[in-house]
Parts: sequence; C-alpha cells; structure tokens
Amino acid sequence: MAHILRTAPSMLLNIARPSVVPGSPAGGSPSTAGPVDPSLIEDLAAANRILADQGVLDGYGHVSLRYPGNPERYLMSRSLAPELVTVSDIMEYDLDSNPVDQRGRTMYLERFIHGEIYKARPEVNCVVHSHSPAVVPFGVSSVPLRALYHMSAFLTGGVPLFEIRNAGGMTDLLVRNPDLGRALAKTLADKPVALMRGHGNVVVGPDIQLAVYRAVYTEVNARLQVQAIMLGGSVTYLEPEEGVLAATNIAGTIGRPWELWKKKALRK
Ligand SMILES: [Zn+2]
Repeated sequence: MAHILRTAPSMLLNIARPSVVPGSPAGGSPSTAGPVDPSLIEDLAAANRILADQGVLDGYGHVSLRYPGNPERYLMSRSLAPELVTVSDIMEYDLDSNPVDQRGRTMYLERFIHGEIYKARPEVNCVVHSHSPAVVPFGVSSVPLRALYHMSAFLTGGVPLFEIRNAGGMTDLLVRNPDLGRALAKTLADKPVALMRGHGNVVVGPDIQLAVYRAVYTEVNARLQVQAIMLGGSVTYLEPEEGVLAATNIAGTIGRPWELWKKKALRK
C-alpha cells in the first residue's frame, strides 16, 4: 500500500520497536504493525495541537488514529497535554489498549475509549475524546444537543448520551477499563458523536480531518444552540434530510479549514 514505507524511517524508532516476535501478546507486549508514513504521524501530532488551539482539548483529552494498514492497532500520544504533543510522543497500541513498546512512558488512563470504539466500528479511523466545554452542559441537561446549522449537519442523526452509572455504578466518571470503553462504544452505536454525562464527549470519523472537523463543530454548535435558546423564541433545527445534503457538501471542503487550523496550531 502506498502509505506504508518500505524502508523504516528513523521516526519509526519513536513509535514502534518490536519487543516480541510477531503474533499475540502471550504475556508480553503486542508486536508492532510496522512502519507508518511519517506524514500521518505528523498529522496526528498536528490534530492534537489543532484541537487544543480550537478550544476543544485543554490540558486533557486525546486523539487517536487507527494504524494504517493494520486495523488491529492504533496510534496515540503518551500521556501529555495535547498542545505539547509532537511526533516523538506517538505510541502504538493494540485494540485492548496494550502498548507495543511502552519504554516507561505514561499512558492515558482513558485509552480504552479508543481501543473499544475501533473494535466496534470498523469504518472509524480516528477517535477524539474531549471535555469540550460548551458541550458538557448538554450531557447533564434534559435539552438535547441538536444540529442548528449546516456546519454541524453530522449531528442531525441524533447525539446519544453515555450514562456511566448504568455501566459502572458510582465511578470517578473516567473510562478507565475495557468494560466501560465497551459500554461507551455501545452507546455511540453508529453515530459520529456521543455525550458523556458530567464528563465530555467522544467524536469519531473515517479519517483524521473529518474527525477533527466534527469535534470542532460539535463545540461550535453547542455554543450557538445555547445562544439561540437564550434568545427566548422557538428554535428551528435542521431536518435530517437537510443534514444529509449539507454533510455531503461539506465533506468535500474540509481540506480548507484543516490547512488553516494546522498552520495556526503549528505556528505556536
Ligand atoms: Zn475524559
């Protein structure tokens, strides 16, 4: 495949060094899925910084990318504030969220969100988990988050709510084990976004640009919806048919904001 390098770049040493022979973990670390196009690693590092720059991620939250060429692996930063992530921080995981080559690096506690969604959603190649501030109120209110303009048309299919009490009783609200990750993936079902009560949300996409775009415009829609409600009149939301038409149109243009966001975020 074109995106897999035939010769290992030096960057590869930062993300994957086989610690056992290829095959199952069998008590050791899982084996690496092999080299990855460095530009994809750069995009993943950029996605972290874009989402921080756009106010979706702060000191917390994470974004992952399914391993190109091996659907049983994914890539994500070591535990680090997203705005600080560079290519050398990217680690490789299997879908049980075991690290391929931990080398003492601290990992995100909630990495199970990513592994379990990748297991449940074969067409998803990028997952964003954030505490996106304008979205949080919709996870604790009876007012549902709904698409009110064309840029957030992807929300017209509905936004499910993950109630962690139903899955784990009284918790610290963090998705800190595979069972909670599976329950979240089940709530998300086939949707692009799920709210997490009292916590944040999860956004998925078929590629990194679309997932980042959706995460940004979920936050923007939440902000605009509060403003529309505060005007005091009735609010007209998008109909599902409008959502499909608008989402189709916008999917072909997201390279434009991506380049802008990336330039801005990497300039910092
Ligand atoms: Zn979280």
